[in-house]
Amino acid sequence: MVNNEKNPEQSPHPLLNSLIGMPNLLNKPGVRKALEELPQLYGNEIVRKELDKLRQRILEADESELDKIDIDPDRLAEKIAALLYEKARPSVHDAVNAAGIILHTALGRAPLADEAREAVCHAAAQYSTIAVDRETGRRGDRYKHVEDLLCFLTGAEAACVVNNNSAATIVLLNTMAEGKEVIVSRGQLVEIGGSFRIPDVMKRSRAMMVEVGTTNKTHPHDYIEAVTENTGLILRVHASNYRMTGFTSDVPVKEMAEIAHQRGLPMADDIGSGCLVDITQYGLPPEPLVQDSIRGGADLVCFSGDKMLGGPQCGVIVGKNEFIKRIKNNPLVRSFRCGKLTYSALEATLKLYLEPETLPQRLPVLRLLTRKQDEIARKERSFLRKIKPFIQGQCIANVVNGFSQMGSGSLPGRDIPSKIITFCPTVMTVDELAYKLRRNNPPIFTRIESEAVVMDFRTVFPDDVPFLLEAFERIFG
Ligand SMILES: *Cc1c(COP(=O)(O)O)cnc(C)c1O
Repeated sequence: MVNNEKNPEQSPHPLLNSLIGMPNLLNKPGVRKALEELPQLYGNEIVRKELDKLRQRILEADESELDKIDIDPDRLAEKIAALLYEKARPSVHDAVNAAGIILHTALGRAPLADEAREAVCHAAAQYSTIAVDRETGRRGDRYKHVEDLLCFLTGAEAACVVNNNSAATIVLLNTMAEGKEVIVSRGQLVEIGGSFRIPDVMKRSRAMMVEVGTTNKTHPHDYIEAVTENTGLILRVHASNYRMTGFTSDVPVKEMAEIAHQRGLPMADDIGSGCLVDITQYGLPPEPLVQDSIRGGADLVCFSGDKMLGGPQCGVIVGKNEFIKRIKNNPLVRSFRCGKLTYSALEATLKLYLEPETLPQRLPVLRLLTRKQDEIARKERSFLRKIKPFIQGQCIANVVNGFSQMGSGSLPGRDIPSKIITFCPTVMTVDELAYKLRRNNPPIFTRIESEAVVMDFRTVFPDDVPFLLEAFERIFG
């Protein structure tokens, strides 16, 4: 390690003398033009901060680092202008998902149906009856808007909605088992990502985790033997994002519920994805259904709204009336509650499920999931024909067999057959191409696989195609 200690008495670095000053930088035509896009004080502050950062970097740099610092005023102005334009645009803006990952958590998971989008737009700028009882004029229950629908669709007696499934799990465990023991299989102590890990969630909800079984096998007697007078709940967690194969076994919901009920205990199922339709009818691998868990006897089932369900980010808990009532009265629910936009989107999404015949066309998640391979291939070939003049001699591109992924821990290890385009650039590396696509406006997200940039048109919307064309023209043209 280089000793990088600073001597505060040291005179300012000579390179600082050559660095462009703030007034001159603001006067560079590119910067001046970009500043017009932003309120003046805010824009100037961005420029000042960037210049400060550069000064700081120069002061802290050692010899080898110094060589890398570029203080050329024109290039600096160009960089800062680009930054200003970026700040002027909404920070969350459209992205093209060409990665073929349908529920891409980093890209916002499920795209909403038109019906849900319209409901959100409408609710956004209006007052609404979100939490008022029209009969009495008093504060009402904000869950009631979706509760009937959720009960109808899942067969549960009652329902409650919070911000996401992590919150749902915490509030469920805290309500049912604060200070008590929760029995869970060692094969289900999952980490979902983004710091959701069952043992930690257990701790936060003040339940005491009792692990049973082994990583690969848990038997009914493991649960039975773990029951004590301090047991509060038997929990099942769907191993959403991985798949165990080989010498494995676990206890089905129905049997777990029986074990629990025979001992006067409740049983809960964190099912993860919230699938409400049997997707094997579309030739897809099975994903556990909420209604199967309820029918199997689970007293409570929780799941995400923005995974397979295809709705807004939220966490849904459905189950027995007495338990849902206790959950609704838990003060934690107040902290985890979601707003009117979520309810509007969720209600509109759930209503689509009332018409199963049109669901695969109207619900984007299902529409993308059921896209036919030949349709995907046709779009990809048509795209390749259009970009051929730009990429010729610079990049080899082919439509080949490949896979899409569900993402967000649904259908783990079950790749969905698709047609993909592989791009092998000869004038830059695959990382560079992926980077340039990501830096496009709107950014284009791809996958890198076996030395190629991969695009999967399963998740590309028709409106995205012109942006893709422009990007390739700009990068290669
Ligand atoms: C995804 C998932 C969660 C977390 O849900 P979020 O909606 O991401 O908070 C919890 N449990 C399981 C089993 C999951 O699959």
